[in-house]
Amino acid sequence: MIAMALAGNPKILIADEPTTALDVTVQKSILDLLRSLISKYNMSMVFISHDLGVVKSLADYLVVMKSGDIVEKGEAKKVLENPQHEYTRGLLNCKPIPGVKLSRLRTLTSKDEPRIISNTFEYHTPLISVNHLQKTYVSSKGLLKKEVREVRAVNDVSFEIMQGETLGLVGESGCGKSTLSRMFLGLIPATGGEVIYEGKNILSSNSAEWKTLRKDLQIIFQDPYSALNPKHTVGDILMEPLSVLSLKNSNEERKQRVLELLDQVGLPKESLNRYPHEFSGGQRQRIVIARALSVEPKFIICDESVAALDVSVQAQVLNLLNDLKRDLGLTYLFISHDLSVVYQMSDRIMVMNKGQIEELNAAWEIFYNPQSDYTKQLLASTI
Ligand code: ADP
Ligand code: MG
Repeated sequence: MIAMALAGNPKILIADEPTTALDVTVQKSILDLLRSLISKYNMSMVFISHDLGVVKSLADYLVVMKSGDIVEKGEAKKVLENPQHEYTRGLLNCKPIPGVKLSRLRTLTSKDEPRIISNTFEYHTPLISVNHLQKTYVSSKGLLKKEVREVRAVNDVSFEIMQGETLGLVGESGCGKSTLSRMFLGLIPATGGEVIYEGKNILSSNSAEWKTLRKDLQIIFQDPYSALNPKHTVGDILMEPLSVLSLKNSNEERKQRVLELLDQVGLPKESLNRYPHEFSGGQRQRIVIARALSVEPKFIICDESVAALDVSVQAQVLNLLNDLKRDLGLTYLFISHDLSVVYQMSDRIMVMNKGQIEELNAAWEIFYNPQSDYTKQLLASTI
């Protein structure tokens, strides 16, 4: 995309959120590339982003926009060090700050002051035990499909998820996070190993058993739009799991449950008869969360669930997830490439690299006392 943009020797390059969906290490290399291209070809760049950390590392001059108006502009350094407008200050406050754990992230509307909480919970009962889990993808290549390529996406991984904790899983894209999470729910078959839940290896479940297990184990993906059928109303979307799993018998009961769910995730009752495209990205992610909650699960995997949202909305959704966890006694496996987000959410953090676990420890330890070189490297590239 960058090569295409440069093909006509432009004087101005407009980059609209070019790194938003990338993990920190890839993001850093793209930003370095843009920086060097600008100076090499003597171009100007308009760099659009919601991420002040990125803007800080790049911009000479900064313009802050809100609802179509410019609320503040000036030399980037001055604006960031001494923001004049309330909105700019709000933006600076709602990004998880590496190493600072707040009981609630600030959102742009929230008035309550953040409090620092200590991370001293102790968990003793494992909800899920993972033993020597493996996944090797085999694909054939070449004209005659004779050459076989093997990718060890998850390579002999063992750990426990404790009842009531949020276990963070962090690592660069391609390290195997999604492969790991999908095996938990039987969405892809494992090559080896076991996942023990309620005394049983769930990986050997048949389809009827998986149906029952899905009442307990749910997943929330990154992209709320592709996860929601655009032709169905929100009401239909939320009622479907209830009827598939025969959880509520009458239509009236199902409707009551759906209204309760909308309330839990902070959406108005009227959402019932509306379609997914009528909602914003953050609201759509709330719908996806409501659908996951509809079956009253015990365990939810959040796989990059806030990666596509801007920082302010991201903070709202993270707060919602934490509130729900507390109110409903949930256990989370929280997956992200963003170490600051994982730190904010997690009791313990597992660092994954090339299909293996580099390090698993209390969140605080991972952040302030990392043992493996890989974790140290990941921390160093966290903006
Ligand atoms: P992450 O979620 O951490 O970004 P993934 O689990 O999606 O990582 O991918 C782990 C590795 O497995 C990557 O090298 C990826 O290219 C490979 N992979 C993922 N899905 C498949 C597939 N269906 N077939 C072959 N290789 C795959
Ligand atoms: Mg993934």
